[in-house]
Amino acid sequence: MEIEVITVGGYEEVGRNMTAVRCGKDIVIFDMGLRLDRIMIHEDAEVENMHSLDLIQMKAIPDDTVMNGIEGTVRAIVCTHGHLDHIGALPKLAHRYNAPIISTPYTTELIRQQIAGEQKFGVNNKLFALKAGGKYTISQNLTLEFVRTQHSIIDSVMAVLHTPHGAIIYANDFKFDRTPVIGEPPDFARLIQIGKEGVLLLITECVNITSKGRAPSERIARDLVRDVITSFEDDKNAILVTTFSSHVARLKTLTECAHEIGRKPVLLGRSMERYSTTAEQMKLVAFPKSTSVFGNRRTVDRIFRRMMKEGKEKFMPIITGHQGEPGSVLTRIGAGDTPYRLEKGDKVLFSAKVIPNPMNFGQRYLTETRLRMTGARIFDELHVTGHAYREDHYDFIHMLNPQHIVPSHGDLKMTAAYAEFASELGYTLQKDVHLMTNGQRLTVHK
Ligand SMILES: [Zn+2]
Repeated sequence: MEIEVITVGGYEEVGRNMTAVRCGKDIVIFDMGLRLDRIMIHEDAEVENMHSLDLIQMKAIPDDTVMNGIEGTVRAIVCTHGHLDHIGALPKLAHRYNAPIISTPYTTELIRQQIAGEQKFGVNNKLFALKAGGKYTISQNLTLEFVRTQHSIIDSVMAVLHTPHGAIIYANDFKFDRTPVIGEPPDFARLIQIGKEGVLLLITECVNITSKGRAPSERIARDLVRDVITSFEDDKNAILVTTFSSHVARLKTLTECAHEIGRKPVLLGRSMERYSTTAEQMKLVAFPKSTSVFGNRRTVDRIFRRMMKEGKEKFMPIITGHQGEPGSVLTRIGAGDTPYRLEKGDKVLFSAKVIPNPMNFGQRYLTETRLRMTGARIFDELHVTGHAYREDHYDFIHMLNPQHIVPSHGDLKMTAAYAEFASELGYTLQKDVHLMTNGQRLTVHK
């Protein structure tokens, strides 16, 4: 049986991930992601209404036209977690394949919402929720298994495709967090076992390959956040926190810290509402009872008016806008575009890092400058990453001992850095560690 990897997207950028694996006549697609900064450049772009070919031209979604030349049948579309750079292009591309979309329960729910918001295409692929630890028979020769991992969104897994020639592991994205805030640590025992059974190919993320050591646990982020928030107990000034709305573990930490200092946690913003409410309804997280959530602009402004009347010190808003995104709650506050007024001594906490691209730097600078002009104090980088560091990758390779590796989920600087790292561990470039770009094909020999 011939095994081929088609690196469709996410090999020249962080975003728009899509990889296909063909085993004989059966094809499995991993992820269909969206690259958000490509859409933000076009300010008037309304993604829900756009055609996939236009989005491909903007390099916002993977160029899956390469799939036309691949002989075989797509049997499944598999998504490992609910970040938009992994599921965001499903509404534009999935309908072209007559195959179910398989993902973890929380991811499946987010995908359902993504597809429901689509205006241009009718996406009728069957959604199948597979829990971490679960298996799914794809064809006579192929079985899919989800292995529990940790990342900056809950219910993340590594996808393992068991083939007659050994396992193919798709590890986008992961972090080896041994003391997570929500859920269990990665299933190391199972990974080691799969390594013993034989791994033909590892397709792995590499965004933090140049960071030395291990990625700090989410417990460290909790300590950072708590250390700052609980030092203001008797303070009468506002405390405003912005973070990734999809980072449910962080939202849990923030709401608990607010509760601890006697302030009501209030989650604000459309995406904040979507991720937190979905997680809560699925009983994947429990926020303190005093927590409330408001999504749309009108209700956000109404609760802001209430805060101004009752006293800002009674609340802790947790809001969108850590990258200075236009239209987000923090950006609107900075622009004086909400009833919520900041004044001297008020505090704005960023439980996030700037995602490094020039547009984010610019927008973040603008927002931060406006906030400072009100006299607000800024507390930055109360955050840890969701992606493995160099020594995590070292451990990973030693657990699996893969015959071949394809670094993915990064630009060429990152994938090349990974290839260099792998060559230090005994791999040889283009023989068993393969540098790929978008739209390429690789036949994997045992
Ligand atoms: Zn991710």
